[in-house]
Amino acid sequence: MKLTTLGTTFFKVKPVQSTQLSDTDKTAIAANTTLDIVAYTEEADHFNVQLAAALQGRDRWYVYAPHVRIVDAAAPPKLKLQVIDSTLLKLKPIQGSQLADTEKAALRGGVELGLLEYSENEMNHYQVKLAEAIQGQDTWYVYVPHVRVLGQDGKPVIVQRAAMGIPSDSGWAWPMKGTSCGPKCEFGFARGRLHAGVDIGGYTPDECYAASGGVVKTVKNDTSGAEGRAIYIQRADGWQHVYFHMRSIAVQPGQAVKRGQLIGIRGGSGFGGEGREIDGGGYSIHLHFEIRKPNGEPVDPRSVLPKDNSCP
Ligand SMILES: [Zn+2]
Repeated sequence: MKLTTLGTTFFKVKPVQSTQLSDTDKTAIAANTTLDIVAYTEEADHFNVQLAAALQGRDRWYVYAPHVRIVDAAAPPKLKLQVIDSTLLKLKPIQGSQLADTEKAALRGGVELGLLEYSENEMNHYQVKLAEAIQGQDTWYVYVPHVRVLGQDGKPVIVQRAAMGIPSDSGWAWPMKGTSCGPKCEFGFARGRLHAGVDIGGYTPDECYAASGGVVKTVKNDTSGAEGRAIYIQRADGWQHVYFHMRSIAVQPGQAVKRGQLIGIRGGSGFGGEGREIDGGGYSIHLHFEIRKPNGEPVDPRSVLPKDNSCP
């Protein structure tokens, strides 16, 4: 246990005002001093503390309770993890079906667990440190919508989520290097319809990388339709990044991906078949890349992606 002084205060041999004590019966302790204590009791508005190391030959002192803070690592945790829906504790923030039995533990709805720490992971999971280990592990991931974190007052702790503006952090990168396929292949109206993304053409390599972190929501692994083989990835803030006309796909639905992770190979599927020229416009193989707001509305990817000359 640790005792920290919040302001300058006295350690005293009796729980009375320091002015009533002689100099030999008190000792001044500077603000923000932290001392190890082995035990303490509360007496009215004082703590009677037993110090790990004696001061002035004494190890037991009184101190005015409002002047100090005692942190007891062994005390019951103040936070609780409340399970709303039956869920899994997981060693990785991915779908439970992708984990071995030893990498997950089932929790029934309604269970409450002591919680030492938690943080929100990008993949819509909390990383939690439990007061008591389960299956020998105290640190786990748990899917955010299935649980609530309760504070000291027993009420849910509200996590302030990032504002839903254009993501302005460095969380985005171009999915590949390449070149514009021309003005009609930029975001905007062309040929009587909204072209809702940017086409990235140019010479190989054709490896395509996740433009941001997230969880793979949908994989369409066939060449039908205008999209051809397609990947839809959703960030924790609800924004989606979408990839059309792939030749092959290296990710699965539910998989968590990091920005810059290889997700597939650009190919020319869609618009009439594998490897053929696309969209009737004589374009060669390109990646059609979209960024969509949480409400599904597409935005110009160039307004979000860094201006780093990846795709001039
Ligand atoms: Zn396109």
